[in-house]
Amino acid sequence: MAHVIFGREYPEQNDAIVIGSGIGGLVCANLLAEGGMKVLLIERHSMLGGFCSTFRRKGFLFDAATHFYPLLGNPTTLTGKILHDLGIETEWVKMDPVDRFHLPNLPAFAVPADFGEYLTKLKDWFPEEAAAIDRYFAELRQAYLYGLLYYFKGVDNEQARKLERFTIAQKLDEHFHDPRLKAVLMADAPHWGSLPNRTSFLFDAMLRLSYFLGNYYPRGSSQKFADDLGRGLTRRGGKIVKCTGVDRILVENGKVSGVRVRTLARRASQEFVFKAPIVVSNADSVHTYRDLLGEEHCGRWMIEYLESLTPTYPCYLMHFGLRGMDPKVLEAAEGYHWSSYDPGDAIRNVFKIFVPTRFDPEMAPPGCQILIVQKLTPLRLEEVTDWAAHKAEIDRRILERLRQVLPGIDDHVVVRLSASAWTSFHYTNNWQGAMLGWEMSPEQLGSARLANATPVENLYLVGHWTQPGGGITPVIISAQRVARAILSAGKTQADLASQYFAFHATVSGRGRSAASTRAERVRE
Ligand SMILES: Cc1cc2nc3c(=O)[nH]c(=O)nc-3n(C[C@H](O)[C@H](O)[C@H](O)COP(=O)(O)OP(=O)(O)OC[C@H]3O[C@@H](n4cnc5c(N)ncnc54)[C@H](O)[C@@H]3O)c2cc1C
Repeated sequence: MAHVIFGREYPEQNDAIVIGSGIGGLVCANLLAEGGMKVLLIERHSMLGGFCSTFRRKGFLFDAATHFYPLLGNPTTLTGKILHDLGIETEWVKMDPVDRFHLPNLPAFAVPADFGEYLTKLKDWFPEEAAAIDRYFAELRQAYLYGLLYYFKGVDNEQARKLERFTIAQKLDEHFHDPRLKAVLMADAPHWGSLPNRTSFLFDAMLRLSYFLGNYYPRGSSQKFADDLGRGLTRRGGKIVKCTGVDRILVENGKVSGVRVRTLARRASQEFVFKAPIVVSNADSVHTYRDLLGEEHCGRWMIEYLESLTPTYPCYLMHFGLRGMDPKVLEAAEGYHWSSYDPGDAIRNVFKIFVPTRFDPEMAPPGCQILIVQKLTPLRLEEVTDWAAHKAEIDRRILERLRQVLPGIDDHVVVRLSASAWTSFHYTNNWQGAMLGWEMSPEQLGSARLANATPVENLYLVGHWTQPGGGITPVIISAQRVARAILSAGKTQADLASQYFAFHATVSGRGRSAASTRAERVRE
């Protein structure tokens, strides 16, 4: 039997259902379909991609959020190889420099794409710390290798265990004296959606060094990448239904049995049930456990535990469509702008400028450019009562700084839009509008991060709220891990089950105390 949704037929019975079309959901769906399963992917939005989607205004194509895609254009890397093997046709534009940092009383620091050049540049700028730079990067290399084994491959090792408790800021303090050098080495840390003194050194090491294997932008925008993954799925016989939200995960005798969905178009909403012996949720984990599964299947403790964890901060965005700006001036302005060397500045004044038309000019009309500003905003959704006033205030602060960096920019603006934490939540369902799921702090990673397996048999999680963590590379790893477990239906599935028990053992004591601490905070 088939259901007809928006004029198209979708089989009621499937081998696997994937909820959500973030990159985690799309890659997992592709891998399952490649493994021979009949996959149905259900997305509530009209576009695929979650945080990797775009929108169009006045001929400008704007990325809604993500723009750095480490490794994906390099088929010799872990995640680049997954896309290559799946035949995903996205064209990747390599970035060089990888990033640019603007710090007080220092010239702009452009990070070369070549690691040797980067190291030489750091030593040229800070000769008195040359020996410490060598020692730091020797440790960082170890952290990168053992971190990959630990977080991405699930191989427990002593070196990673030694390093996992440190934050970025702690390690920088341990190795260096010069506050300017420390500032250069943590300048891009806001991309973790948190503070450098809260973010794991070990987890960060993996991304920091992966940039030198290639950092990329997808030609044609993030949406092109998401849509290419969607095409890969349909090529493999998978079905995609959009504008349709899952509102219940169905469970029979402790095993997942399907989902109930509701169409979300303007006309009267319709309800359908789709069946499958396997369900993978790429939706936010609080939403998955609390709203879609319900405490009767996971226990009240799990929901309270999740609500007690620290999410990453939401990222405020301003999108500008510009006409007639000098591309060289825009290029020079790209990167992170700090107003002090204090790690706390990451959530106060730091903002980032990105100019996607440098990598693909066709995303704007001829003679025009796109400029995107990102800024972490430390807030919880329930704290803001007047979103219009909130946006006006943040816009004002960003514009004030932007006018100093790019004098006369106002004369070039064709379109200007902004997106708050609420926008992120509204379009992707990410709890608190969080940028990368739970904060990548030492105590929220490894076995303490939400497991990919769940207490319900054959229900799995992929994406940035689950193991190994947030960001494009980790969510692809989560997808690969879950797809492998499902397709092997043997040893790796047992590994995921033990991962759940390890998570349960790690947090069950902590869960209740963390939940009661939060309850106390709320009462206060
Ligand atoms: C501003 C910003 C900039 C970023 N920049 C970068 C960057 O440069 N590099 C990087 O690596 N990372 C970046 N990130 C982080 C990165 O985008 C995310 O970690 C990653 O995209 C999350 O992917 P995901 O698979 O977890 O799914 P998400 O992108 O969170 O998507 C989840 C999907 O599930 C759907 N969904 C939710 N509930 C339901 C339901 N009930 N029924 C059906 N569908 C549902 C949503 O609509 C959404 O499409 C950035 C994030 C933000 C916000």
